[in-house]
Amino acid sequence: MSIFSKMLLFRGAGRHYSAAAQTQLRDILSTQLAGIKEAGTFKAERIITSSQSTQITVQGSDQKILNFCANNYLGLANNPEIVSYSQKLLEQYGAGLSSVRFICGTQDIHKQLERKIAQFHGREDTILYASCFDANAGLFEAILTPEDAVFSDELNHASIIDGIRLCKAKKQRYKHRDLADLEQQLKASDARLKLIATDGVFSMDGNIAPLARIVELAKKYNALVFVDECHATGFFGDTGRGTEEYDNVMGEVDIINSTLGKALGGASGGYTTGPSELITFLRQKSRPYLFSNTLPPAVVAVGLKVMDMLLTSSELTQRVQSNTQRFRKAMTKAGFTIAGENHPICPVMLGDARLASKFADEMLTRGIYVIGFSYPVVPQGKARIRVQISAAHTEAEIDRAISAFIEVGRSLKVIQ
Ligand code: PLP
Repeated sequence: MSIFSKMLLFRGAGRHYSAAAQTQLRDILSTQLAGIKEAGTFKAERIITSSQSTQITVQGSDQKILNFCANNYLGLANNPEIVSYSQKLLEQYGAGLSSVRFICGTQDIHKQLERKIAQFHGREDTILYASCFDANAGLFEAILTPEDAVFSDELNHASIIDGIRLCKAKKQRYKHRDLADLEQQLKASDARLKLIATDGVFSMDGNIAPLARIVELAKKYNALVFVDECHATGFFGDTGRGTEEYDNVMGEVDIINSTLGKALGGASGGYTTGPSELITFLRQKSRPYLFSNTLPPAVVAVGLKVMDMLLTSSELTQRVQSNTQRFRKAMTKAGFTIAGENHPICPVMLGDARLASKFADEMLTRGIYVIGFSYPVVPQGKARIRVQISAAHTEAEIDRAISAFIEVGRSLKVIQ
């Protein structure tokens, strides 16, 4: 019997062996998928056939549509200067490292990017990860022990929640942005290390953590402050330094995690920035850093170029802020309720889930791409369309979106 026939027999036998278990798995999952579809929460992917931009094309149509739902806050996802620098480093440094950082996966460009990020945030050192999800997964478990306690806002991002789940510290949740609740819990705690963990900006509502008052409480009760700045780094606060700049407490947060996958070029990557001992310790203990491949050079290049841009100019930051004001002001004047505060995440509150989904469909027929969010992503009865503004939107594009909102809003009797 040839090797080839033997292999076929072996694969066939394997399939036979697992058939019953696999049928069982398929049945279980199909039932659950039917349930998700029935609940109206099934997520389908829309296939984009262009680069990420304010104007995109999608499969099945040649028409450009105006995109208002990317985290591309600075409009850098297809910036030609960044793309060409990324190509250059791809040529120079190769496709990837085939290694974790500490074995043979650290190039000079990884160290440069870590230094630039630390400089941007005014911190001592930075450690890169493949994503901010990984940065959040690797932090708490590495530094907190059963003697410690972590105090987490109840609406924190899933990756913070998962990261905290992995650690052995006492886990305490405080009510969303509720300082009285946080203070009561801090006061009652006799933990060795106390760590307050919050999103800087909460992405479903576009609202902001009361950071200055959190820092005050941290000082009073000898606690540390951790902030996830994924929806703030690069574009929030006067020079894009994030929530601590916005709330006038620059440099007072102990640990910042953020992403390179949103405003900062939109490729991928995440990081922790803070005291040098912390970063050195994470390089010894943090599991996503120790056991996952290093960032590829073409992705590092995106971060490097964006950091150079942000360290020399705040023009894009100011542009996204003025676009945000333009949209929020006109929409409020038209009679819409826009949740959140001064942030490019502008949730247009509609209440009913079906209404939100119909509204988004109607907007698409007018060439505007927005998404309806409903339960379980947001609380029941609080369905909305989450508009995200970019520095790359022109004023004319913003005005076109506003006109479409008004037209659809009137036809669906959301506004008069
Ligand atoms: N934290 C927050 C608040 C986020 O919104 C996200 C992304 O959705 C993440 C963390 C994860 O970031 P990344 O995409 O880099 O894994």
